[in-house]
Amino acid sequence: MSTNQLTKSQWQEKARALSFRNQALIDGKFVAALSGKTFASISPLNGRELTQVAECDAPDAEAAVKIARRTFESGVWSRKSPRERKMVMVRWAELMLQHREELALLETLDMGKPISDSMAVDVRSSANCIRWFGEAIDKIYDEVSPTGENDIGLTTREPVGVVACIVPWNFPLLMTSWKLGPALAAGNSVILKPSEKSPLSALRLAELALEAGLPPGVLNVLPGYGHTVGKALALHMDVDCIAFTGSTGVGKQIMQMAGQSNLKRAWLECGGKSPHIVFADCPNMDAAAEAAAYGIFYNQGEMCSAGSRLLVEQSIADEFMARVLEKAKDWQPGDPLDPATKVGALVDDKQMATVLGFINKANDEGCKLLLGGKQTLKETGGYFVESTVFGSVEPRHTIAREEIFGPVLSVLSFKDAEEAVRIANDTHYGLAAALWTRDISKAHKTAKAIRAGSIWINCYDGGDITTPFGGYKQSGNGRDKSLHALDKYTELKATWISLNP
Ligand code: NAD
Repeated sequence: MSTNQLTKSQWQEKARALSFRNQALIDGKFVAALSGKTFASISPLNGRELTQVAECDAPDAEAAVKIARRTFESGVWSRKSPRERKMVMVRWAELMLQHREELALLETLDMGKPISDSMAVDVRSSANCIRWFGEAIDKIYDEVSPTGENDIGLTTREPVGVVACIVPWNFPLLMTSWKLGPALAAGNSVILKPSEKSPLSALRLAELALEAGLPPGVLNVLPGYGHTVGKALALHMDVDCIAFTGSTGVGKQIMQMAGQSNLKRAWLECGGKSPHIVFADCPNMDAAAEAAAYGIFYNQGEMCSAGSRLLVEQSIADEFMARVLEKAKDWQPGDPLDPATKVGALVDDKQMATVLGFINKANDEGCKLLLGGKQTLKETGGYFVESTVFGSVEPRHTIAREEIFGPVLSVLSFKDAEEAVRIANDTHYGLAAALWTRDISKAHKTAKAIRAGSIWINCYDGGDITTPFGGYKQSGNGRDKSLHALDKYTELKATWISLNP
């Protein structure tokens, strides 16, 4: 039977048989935190403990940085030929696919997303990312300057050194792979800190990297809290680069800590409040309505690039919203282990309380509840919230301004392209935006006028590993994915050679 055809009860059976890697990985060995402390990994599916995980802190960061520095300087990975690094990474990607069910289950049980998404999107895209950067690294040439006959000018890339990666919980495997792919392909040694809410898949991923032949100590994983072990990494004097994905608030702290310590390069992939604009000349209303639902309800709305502000041209607002509400009915939460489920559980009770708090606020501020608005599936003990839509939202309302990171859509209307752009840019975020129109001039003009890192025209969330992803404004800096991601993890060295000394 193909894995795609596993039934809910088969997934449940596999979940019961699953074992967990739950210790830190330092120098190729799984070890307890130096303090001996652990924290509970709670499944959002039912509120039950999956396992106790090593709770790393500053002393563990100290140990991991020493090992990472030592392996980097030894050249065991950093000075391997790109071709050799490629072969390890390609093998690693193959192992990820061989263990696809296990990784998908870890992801679903630990953070609540539907198993069908973990299988089809998270594991597959993560393996693709690791393979792609592995495949790319021995095909990139350095530069020779156009000098006169007496000189040679070389511009070469070198790995930055010791890289700390701090990642969130909404796409634990994928965000990790977006960092590890380019950082490791470039020859760095890495310390990964997964989110305390979803540490399990990263530990297994790292174990597979060892199996693929990554030398011990090149990739170290420290589970634990942000304000302890994460902070220790951000402040560490011997970490050369910190690659962070998470909230804008924590991103600001990371930048400060980089400045307070050794001015390490701080790359930030932060939050969003992306506008999804539907003009009256939308070429396919049905597809746009489906995209509007997908854009906010996929991954329970726990998406940095969620289309959380739907902007609809006034003349089609009623007709279009009827379609969106119809589509939204298909996007209601269910058991994440059921392959038919499209919306899973929110990551924890705190996130659920945050989302319900925003819903209350919207009601208090006079937004019109069109769908959902409540906790659901309470009998499971898990953290589920109905897919929710608010109409009559104005740019000043809280739900139009703040990142909710949950399945709550704010619907606003506009009268022309100028007003659409003004509303779209009325945010301190700038991660992504989408627009639907038949008019090629309007599409290009609007795309140019919106200050965001990704613009999707007549689709939502388009792109693949070849397209850079990252934010303008307070959505961050730098780019994940594509060859541009290598800029974060490499230094450019200029070497000038005089041929007439
Ligand atoms: P978060 O900022 O709370 O945590 C992210 C990571 O930072 C976690 O590993 C956490 O432990 C760590 N951390 C927290 N405080 C820290 C500190 N003081 N020092 C060092 N590390 C610290 O974010 P989250 O709730 O895990 O994730 C949700 C956020 O991530 C949303 O804002 C979302 O938009 C953003 N996100 C952005 C992208 C992107 O590519 N731009 C992708 C996914 C998620």
